[in-house]
Amino acid sequence: MKNLITSKKFAIILSHKGPDGDSLGSSLALSEYLNKINISNKVIIPDDFPENYNWLNGIDQVEVASKNISKVEEYFKTSDLIFCLDFNHRSRVGPLLSPLLSEIDDSKTIVVIDHHTYPENFGDHELIDPDASSTSELVYRFIENNDDLDLVDEKIAEPIYLGIISDTGSFKYSSVSSSTHKVASHLISIGLDHTKIHNNIYDQNEISKINLLGYALQKIKVDSSSKIAYLALSQKELEKFNFKKGDTEGFVNYCLSLKSVEVAAFLREDSNMIKISFRSKGKIKVNDFSRLYYNGGGHQNAAGGAVHGTDIEMVLKDLLINFKSFCSD
Ligand code: 5GP
Ligand code: MN
Repeated sequence: MKNLITSKKFAIILSHKGPDGDSLGSSLALSEYLNKINISNKVIIPDDFPENYNWLNGIDQVEVASKNISKVEEYFKTSDLIFCLDFNHRSRVGPLLSPLLSEIDDSKTIVVIDHHTYPENFGDHELIDPDASSTSELVYRFIENNDDLDLVDEKIAEPIYLGIISDTGSFKYSSVSSSTHKVASHLISIGLDHTKIHNNIYDQNEISKINLLGYALQKIKVDSSSKIAYLALSQKELEKFNFKKGDTEGFVNYCLSLKSVEVAAFLREDSNMIKISFRSKGKIKVNDFSRLYYNGGGHQNAAGGAVHGTDIEMVLKDLLINFKSFCSD
């Protein structure tokens, strides 16, 4: 793989819409690695990232497609190597970028690095492992496979660590393996300040966000017969609390934390859709549930989807019906 990538002139690094800690972390870590092996590159994201990632090294150089699509089209044209990180279906990069990605001709090489299930397999080379904790851990593995672990410094370590903690609930989920801890151990041994990263991500909240959380917690409902807890926030409610991208990150986990609850759903009304996050404990496959009813996907215990052109009350009503039907199949 190293021979292949070092023969290329300009790489673009793409990740899914609604950037999160793992998509941004894996992209910035890979970008810095490519810099170190002298491959010029550009990180492109479909839409803007939440403010709590502002501190990341290199984030100011990231191109946001929704802000400047003509620039992004230029990057696509001049690239000869395309990395697709933290997604494995072309539709996941959203309506602006997926047509560009679908029209790629044979002169360009596509490399997919991802840890989601049901891949579309559109890459020329793929490093896909649904058992991996995060795409960031896979970027580490990619560097390791190239025999380049000696290049891992703080600029690569920080975004990898960020990606791992964001996708594992800080080393809590079942996707964490001994290799995940080995990666973290190596990163800390080269001087990574893990407390700083946790503080930057989780302890820089605005009071409005904590007040929104307080309000949201009061609204959680439980359907004990199907062991599902759910929470829905309309745009009007969000606006009252000065909602900013990323402010509801993690809300779904409070639903899941309830005793006897096995599945959690969080519904957020956006300008043109209802975005849904699902989480589960144990064997219930929320990625299958989301694929079946919400045009979504993800992992067995953490998935997402969306519904367009309806109101949040309808989606809530259907949610319980759909879930009961899913469980009875
Ligand atoms: P979250 O609920 O935090 O947005 O996403 C949880 C997981 O599901 C992540 O791995 C994310 O990539 C995936 N996911 C979220 N929304 C969608 C979606 O609309 N489609 C697919 N295929 N995956 C999604
Ligand atoms: Mn991920």
